[in-house]
Amino acid sequence: MRRLFFIIVFLTSFQTVAFAQEKNNLSDAQEFALNNSIYVLYHEIAHLLISKLDIPILGREENAADNFATLMLLRAETEQTDNVLIDSAYGWFLSSENADTEVYSDDELYGEHNLDIQRAFQIVCLMVGKDPDVFGEIANEVGLDKDRQEDCEDDFKQAEKSWDRVLAPYVNEKPDNLKINIRYDRGYGLVSAGALLRDNKFFESAIDNILRKYKLPSQPNMRSKECHEANAYYDSWTGEILFCYELVDDFIQMYEKNIAE
Ligand SMILES: [Zn+2]
Repeated sequence: MRRLFFIIVFLTSFQTVAFAQEKNNLSDAQEFALNNSIYVLYHEIAHLLISKLDIPILGREENAADNFATLMLLRAETEQTDNVLIDSAYGWFLSSENADTEVYSDDELYGEHNLDIQRAFQIVCLMVGKDPDVFGEIANEVGLDKDRQEDCEDDFKQAEKSWDRVLAPYVNEKPDNLKINIRYDRGYGLVSAGALLRDNKFFESAIDNILRKYKLPSQPNMRSKECHEANAYYDSWTGEILFCYELVDDFIQMYEKNIAE
């Protein structure tokens, strides 16, 4: 019941932001799916950097990757990247709520990721930790305690300092022309999901916003396709980030089932 309350109030804040943003040619469901997909891609880019640059990680790599994605999006300081974070936190809250259980299964508890609801709160914590004036209202609405909100400033500073320190030796003074292979495979059953990524320069934008800032020892690859599962991952063996159209479609379904009227 407590979580359901969070979802309802979060929906209220989400809609406020959605109304404020400039409408483009995407439907609300497509925009929600694209924003959640962008967050997942940034998370996978963190795995790529950790692997290719042999970055030491203290604690869980999955949490570090989430923090990296949130930090990079917060630093961009655009309306679009703020909306990516809001939609992604909302997506994790919905995913948690849709689990429809008060008891967590063993595989959720021993899994490599934090619980969905913890991932949602951690995004909001770093948001309010960076800028309470901008994100304080959202933090209040999702039920992040005032004392915790104040501590989130330390969480944000620590995450930012840690990532900056480990990445400092690899920063490019000016963006290089590292060749990165990108492939948007044809979708067969999920043509629109493929078109959503391709038409919005999904990989190209993330490469320009993040990857070109760092010296990579070898060429990475990025590919999207149908995979028969809703997933995205970095394969350290091939050096490839694979993004499945089924995951994009899952986000569309999530929006249509939970948010669309
Ligand atoms: Zn991961």
